[in-house]
Amino acid sequence: MSCKEEDHLYPLEILQQAGLRPTTQRVAILQFMIDEKRHWTADELFHQMRGSLPTLSLATVYNTLKAFVESGVLKELTFGDAASRFDLNVSPHHHMVCDQCGKLQDIYLEEVPVDWIQEAEKDHQFYTKDIQIELHGLCQQCFQLQVADSSKRTLGTTEA
Ligand code: ZN
Ligand code: MN
Repeated sequence: MSCKEEDHLYPLEILQQAGLRPTTQRVAILQFMIDEKRHWTADELFHQMRGSLPTLSLATVYNTLKAFVESGVLKELTFGDAASRFDLNVSPHHHMVCDQCGKLQDIYLEEVPVDWIQEAEKDHQFYTKDIQIELHGLCQQCFQLQVADSSKRTLGTTEA
């Protein structure tokens, strides 16, 4: 989790500070993301929220998320061809990505080793603006499922 004490977040204050008009839909989407801290996709949000907010459309979710990203309320995370995920945590951090279930976990690095980055910048005449580190693999749950699954299979063959 966060390395600093998490501030209490109120949708109205956030929207006001971001200079966004607090429409019902914006407040609802933001409140939902504060209550259910995950790295949601637009589609997931829409499906989770439309039960309690029947007037919500997928287009509204997309437009709202876009406005939130443009005003710095959310950070958009892109992973290859997969759908963008939206992060309410806009402080500098990185992610561990479970390639099995898609779960994202935040990681905080006090210090990113910059030597090789500076070398690469020199080699490619590149000017780095942002560093995103992604660790890919299996989350604890998926790893344990895989271990359980393979031991079941081993047991099956010895018993047979
Ligand atoms: Zn997983
Ligand atoms: Mn994150």
